[in-house]
Amino acid sequence: MAHQLRAEYGPEGPSGAVARWHVVRTGEPAMAMCGAVIDEAAESKPESAWGTGLRICQQCGSLYLHEVPFLSADWR
Ligand SMILES: [Zn+2]
Repeated sequence: MAHQLRAEYGPEGPSGAVARWHVVRTGEPAMAMCGAVIDEAAESKPESAWGTGLRICQQCGSLYLHEVPFLSADWR
C-alpha cells in the first residue's frame, strides 16, 4: 500500500467530526500530499477507503489521481 487516508478534524478536534481526509504517502504519514501537516494521532484509513464517499481534500485527491491513474474497480 503506497498511500493512506488521514483525518483532519474540525474545530472540536479528534472528539468531533472529521473535516476532511487527506492523502499521505505511506513513508510520510505526517505530511499530506497537499502539504498539510497531519496530527500524529489522527485517524488513518487504508487506501481502499478511497471512493467510499469520504470527503477528501480536493488538492490531495487531484494529486493522488495523478500518482494512481486508475483503480481496479475501473476495470469492471
Ligand atoms: Zn490535503
